[in-house]
Amino acid sequence: MEKIDIKSLPLSGLEELFAAWGEPSFRAGQVYAWLHQKQALRFEEMSNLSKALREKLEQNCFITELTVRRKLVSQIDGTIKYLYQLPDGETVESVLMQYKHGDSLCISTQVGCRMGCNFCASTLLGLARNLTPAEMLEEVYLAGRDSGRRVSSLVLMGIGEPLDNYDNVLTFLRLLSSEQGMNLSLRHVSLSTCGLVPRIYDLMAEKLQLTLSISLHAPDNETRDKTMPVNRKYPVEELIEACRAYFKETGRRISFEYALIQGVNDSEDCAEKLAKLLSGLPCHVNLIPVNSVTERGYRKSSPLQIKKFIAVLERRHINTTVRRELGADINAACGQLRRADKGGTREC
Ligand code: SAH
Repeated sequence: MEKIDIKSLPLSGLEELFAAWGEPSFRAGQVYAWLHQKQALRFEEMSNLSKALREKLEQNCFITELTVRRKLVSQIDGTIKYLYQLPDGETVESVLMQYKHGDSLCISTQVGCRMGCNFCASTLLGLARNLTPAEMLEEVYLAGRDSGRRVSSLVLMGIGEPLDNYDNVLTFLRLLSSEQGMNLSLRHVSLSTCGLVPRIYDLMAEKLQLTLSISLHAPDNETRDKTMPVNRKYPVEELIEACRAYFKETGRRISFEYALIQGVNDSEDCAEKLAKLLSGLPCHVNLIPVNSVTERGYRKSSPLQIKKFIAVLERRHINTTVRRELGADINAACGQLRRADKGGTREC
């Protein structure tokens, strides 16, 4: 019999399991607190349970534990980049960043990615598998345990496409925000997607308080088709329509990520098109000078070009910021450490 992944179970699932075992339901609450508040990694630590129950748990269930395979600490800004090892030997990355308002953790949602965005290092090795809810939780718990810092906000912007692992990500978010668990408000969580339109509507129906972040990176189909294969399935107009519906339903402002690539999507004409595309939609545009990926030959836009791009957006009253680069000395952009560990090229 396969053992149960107990840390992926919501409290209701644990209660069902204990009911089936003929255990009182308050025991489920006790175990849940051990797993998600005290972050116990062994059943034998659960000292308020009988020995018989601990043994039964041991025989039927397992507790997911990640380990730190590599850890890089930035001397510039204290950013910590982790390469975590999963129970089956696969690896994923998380990055802990320090801001004035607290520490923010960027986590992975899949081992690899199958979306194929051609400026992204995470997709070069393809998709190995989805992460379980417990593995995503452990990314958060372990960063806190290892660093001694409190993770006060979270971005799902590491390796993987969160909406391509929809059910596990939703279960993870419920566990993370549960009152009896870490109790992190979803207001402090951003979920980033390359634009799986049907899943955006599914997420909309959940009415969560999180911030939806869209990796847009181009204002028209011609440009976006070239860099993001997902666009051929869900073109820009459909994506923006879904975003407008999402805002209408949830009242949550959308965030758009736009990596500026020299000569590809950074012209003033692109900026005009972008402003037109987003007009009337309450949103925020986050410009990111692209991290170059050696295989692709893409380069960052020049500071002057970035300035010109911003000027157009501001003139059109689009709320815009340029992402500050953190952990520049430790290669903190996503997908790069895992790939280096697997023998791929290092990034600049
Ligand atoms: N799959 C999700 C989340 C993971 S990628 C998504 O597409 O949103 C996290 C963010 O990093 C996305 O906005 C992605 O487009 C961006 N990104 C990937 N490679 C990049 C690079 N080389 N330079 C700058 N941003 C990059």
